[in-house]
This record gives sequence, C-alpha cells and structure tokens, in this order.
Amino acid sequence: MTAIQGPKLVIFGRQGSGKGTQGARLASHLGIVHLATGDILRSAVQAHSLLGQRVGRLLAGGELVPDDVMLAVLRARLRQTDVARHGFLLDGFPRTVPQAEALVEMLGTNGLDAVLELDLAAERAFARLRARARADDTPAAIARRLELYEAETVPVRGVFDALDLRVVVDGDGTPDEVFERIRAALHPVLWGTASAVG
Ligand code: AMP
Repeated sequence: MTAIQGPKLVIFGRQGSGKGTQGARLASHLGIVHLATGDILRSAVQAHSLLGQRVGRLLAGGELVPDDVMLAVLRARLRQTDVARHGFLLDGFPRTVPQAEALVEMLGTNGLDAVLELDLAAERAFARLRARARADDTPAAIARRLELYEAETVPVRGVFDALDLRVVVDGDGTPDEVFERIRAALHPVLWGTASAVG
C-alpha cells in the first residue's frame, strides 16, 4: 500500500457510544476522511450492488459481515486518493481481532497514530440507540450488535494495547463536552504537546 499522508486514526466504542457523531466531527476538524464501514455497507445495500445483496440480511439482523468481505472493502477504500492525501478516521472497523491484525499489517511500519476509545456504559448506550431511528435499529438487532461487541470487538483492545495505541475518553456528556475531551486527549499524540488541539 502506498504511503498515506496525514493522521491515521481509529475511533472505537460500543454502538451508541457516540462514535459516529464524534467521528464525523473529529474527521472534519482534522481535515481527514471519515471512513465509516457501516455507512459504506448501508450505501451498498441501498444501491443493490453485489456487495449490498451479499450483506443486506446480515445488516438487518445486526450480524457481522465476514472478515474477508470487510477487508476487501477496506483495502479498496484505503487505496483511494482522498485517503492517501489527507489521512483517515476509521469508524466501525476493526470489529474483530482478525480485522485488527489485518489492518496493522496493511498499514505497515508507519501505521496508526492512535485508537480512540469512547467509553460509555452499556445501559447508557442502549438508551441512546433506542432514541435514534435507523432502519437496522430494531430492538433485536441492537441487542445482537451489543452482544457481538462484547464477544468480538472488546478483544480488539489487546491488539492495540500491544502497540500502545489506545487512548480512552469518557463518552458520557454533551457532544461538545465529549469533543473537547477528545481534542485534549489526541493533541499530545498528534502534535506532541499537552495543550488543546487547534
Ligand atoms: P455500524 O454503522 O458501524 O453500526 O454498522 C452497521 C452494520 O454494518 C453492523 O451491524 C454490521 O452488520 C456491519 N458492519 C459494519 N462494520 C463492520 C465490520 N468492521 N465488520 C463486520 N460487520 C460490519
């Protein structure tokens, strides 16, 4: 893979932790590409593309899309010029240990700058999820996604901790409060001093 300029970040947290909202805001603040795998998949389903036909049922049920399919999608997206020029914030990927390992391998030695984890208790996240209106947010699908998060995604922490990449931020608060915490936490990682970003 050709070198990617700019920050390379992952935002990580259970569904409902605010990672979509904060991810979009952070990516725009840093001028990098917000790469949300759920959005890519939902667009494919709406467009009835081959990928969409393959994954539609999995999304509706809150199941994970197989790792090989996700990795092909991600690899293709990371090769596009906007990502190569500006950097990226991955949101919704990796969701399994094999995905995390493949990502680290794909990016090579100048890999990720940081993995930002938004920490929010399961009950708070569930309440937030029930309050939003996305087509794949049926109570059964929400419960299944949270269950898969614990079983498949929480172990991803180990891959990032081994590389000393994980930065944890409290996700409980207003969007502005949480964003300020994120800026403060990432500043030393991205710019090497302790004052607030930008
Ligand atoms: P999200 O928008 O991140 O909540 O993702 C919505 C749905 O897309 C998930 O419930 C999964 O079915 C699928 N999905 C998104 N990202 C991944 C991934 N990295 N691995 C497997 N499935 C994914």
